[in-house]
Amino acid sequence: MKIVYSQDYAMEWGEHVFPAEKYHLLYRRLLKEGLVREEDVISPPVPSWQELALIHEPEYLEELQTLRASPRTLSSEIPLNPSLIRGTRVMCGGTYLAAILALKEGIGFHLGGGLHHAYPDHAEGFCYLNDLGFALAKLKNEGQIRRAAVVDCDLHQGNGTAFIFRHDPEIFTFSIHQEFLYPFPKEQSDLDIGLAVGTGDEEYLLALEGALERVIGHSPELVIYQAGVDPYRGDLLGDLALSEEGLRRRDEMVIGHLRKAGIPVAITLGGGYPAEVEKVVELHLQTFLVARSYSEGASPAR
Ligand SMILES: [Zn+2]
Repeated sequence: MKIVYSQDYAMEWGEHVFPAEKYHLLYRRLLKEGLVREEDVISPPVPSWQELALIHEPEYLEELQTLRASPRTLSSEIPLNPSLIRGTRVMCGGTYLAAILALKEGIGFHLGGGLHHAYPDHAEGFCYLNDLGFALAKLKNEGQIRRAAVVDCDLHQGNGTAFIFRHDPEIFTFSIHQEFLYPFPKEQSDLDIGLAVGTGDEEYLLALEGALERVIGHSPELVIYQAGVDPYRGDLLGDLALSEEGLRRRDEMVIGHLRKAGIPVAITLGGGYPAEVEKVVELHLQTFLVARSYSEGASPAR
């Protein structure tokens, strides 16, 4: 299976709760274990600043481009440096490219992305640019898709994405997240499921299964899956209680249900904050393996 990845994802985060080294660690692991061949790795196109204005405000983009500290950029809670701005810009291209792959081959895997907290005019929650919003807006703008959906299973609500598409009836936004946790207040997605502290595998999967029926009922031509692994019970930022196997079943349920309905799925990594970086790599690897099991021998979606 082809994957989308860029050397630009090795960004300079300094000391930070976000385990940014997970990108290259997962990448190296996939190569080392022979799960991906080097020739199957595709580097994304870098979107121009003008293109990013499809969803972001020009004044905000100018602040990012010139690395200007302002309330709009400082709200990211992450460093403002050239490598981070470059990396997140490339991730916008990466999710777009994964979506193109999905439209062609049924599955597109982006080893990055899921920056769902970024708003049109400001950064939030470790996200400068919203790759999910950008990919869908660009595809729509090019006439490649009309109807699409976002399935956001990160621990945190996909507030930026919900806001970006709040007036677009063709883009269905779904978020399943921990209710009493950042962001406050939440935006309104087309479908939100806010879970109580301590929610475990069975309750989570039951809620998710019902929601996926609603997503499929929207008849999307493409789904972007934000496969954040922070609902994990050992996560430092949250209080959901999914096991490793529960997360694997979640990935299986999302990708499996959508593929069986003939819907192309583009996958992005999203968040994950266990105490050990090896664990977050392990959990994202599970998502990759599920995706791969649906790519092999799968017939083209359209
Ligand atoms: Zn998160």
